[in-house]
Amino acid sequence: MTVEAAPQASTELVQHLIRLGCVNTGQPDSGDETKASELLRQVVDLPGVELESYGPLPNRQSLVARLPGSDPMAPTLLLLGHTDVVPADPTDWRHDPFGGELIDGWVWGRGAIDMLCVTASMAVAFADLARRRVALPGTVVFCAVADEEAGGKAGADWLLRHHRDAVIADHVLTECGGTPLHTPSGMKLPVLVAEKGAAWCTLTVHGTAGHGSTPLIGDNALVRAAEVVRRLAAYRPLGVIHDTWRGYVAAMQFDPELEAILLDPTAITDWAEHHPDRGFAADCHACTHLTISPNVLRADGKTNTIPGSVEMEVDIRTLPGHTLDDVQRVLDEILAELRPFVDIEFFDPGWATSTASPVDSPLWRSIERASAAVYPDARCVPAITPGGTDARFFRDHGCTSYGYGLFSRELGYDDYVAMFHAKDERVDVHSLGLMEQLWADIAVDLLGERHP
Ligand SMILES: [Zn+2]
Repeated sequence: MTVEAAPQASTELVQHLIRLGCVNTGQPDSGDETKASELLRQVVDLPGVELESYGPLPNRQSLVARLPGSDPMAPTLLLLGHTDVVPADPTDWRHDPFGGELIDGWVWGRGAIDMLCVTASMAVAFADLARRRVALPGTVVFCAVADEEAGGKAGADWLLRHHRDAVIADHVLTECGGTPLHTPSGMKLPVLVAEKGAAWCTLTVHGTAGHGSTPLIGDNALVRAAEVVRRLAAYRPLGVIHDTWRGYVAAMQFDPELEAILLDPTAITDWAEHHPDRGFAADCHACTHLTISPNVLRADGKTNTIPGSVEMEVDIRTLPGHTLDDVQRVLDEILAELRPFVDIEFFDPGWATSTASPVDSPLWRSIERASAAVYPDARCVPAITPGGTDARFFRDHGCTSYGYGLFSRELGYDDYVAMFHAKDERVDVHSLGLMEQLWADIAVDLLGERHP
């Protein structure tokens, strides 16, 4: 497969997937990912490929395609893409978010970046391996899953609970990473090897109801909730300099002054607060701190009634080593004398511990070799993401799981980050070609004779 000849297949596939509009609103029956899994089935339905569809509902099927290797003892590589996308408001966009238009070398639409570009290129690379009848000792599995955008309960998590054998693999590749970062010390390619955990919770703040005309008679739960929100937002813990962060900072080759700040738990906290590059600073902060963001407040009532209780939802993200007990301790400390007035309920299942895969792995080395073929002078950098992907479920099952991809120089890191779940999402055709080549190269390198 050549880069010149290949992109058309991924490009057309991304356009089709965007037009299907598998929008996941978070409602259990939304998504309709079966439409995407049926389309992808047509792409990978080739001699020698074993195909299955699984899912909790008829409209939420995930596709599993398997290209068995010649040696049952050889490792398995899973190419894991999700098919759902988040909603889009067309009035914000320059082009129809579900039009899948190809304009001047860019495909526009919801999911172009997150993550239909990866899912489509994985399908095409997998089909290419099958079509070429590449005889690999190891097995390649392509899995197009539903429901990543609402936590995987009808997708990756469900598959691992109900059909573990169909999807389990030694090595897993999924979304994020691989956007060229141009730094003074050369080009860097982030590989997501770790993710923060999430301890989402509902805080119910209690007071005493009364008539709104006589405020002193009541004990206003909304006023108390305002103080709770203020304290949560003002929480400023020290940084946590964990191993993945150390590895990232070392590989990025920052100048010595910045490196010293990024490895100092006190200095990094102050620096992140004031650094003018807000995107970079916020990311460094999130990767090294337990963060708390109060995001939803519900105080249903009446204008003339002092509310007796108020509910808020809080997004708490944890670092490697943090436990639920640690989170509870932090909340107790923040609430202090208000603690008796607040009930804390963690989402179920809403607790995901931070997960990480080792960097010293055969998959890492295959990624390095495959990336060097495109960007010979670039360096792969192990990174932690403040967000979550389906990789976390596979790490929980002991699979080495990374988030990667390979994007062209035209797609800057800031653009990439800004397009996630945002307006004017688009991907360039060149990047699609690079990724097709990447997935096939990694599969051959990792599962071939050289690495039994
Ligand atoms: Zn995604």
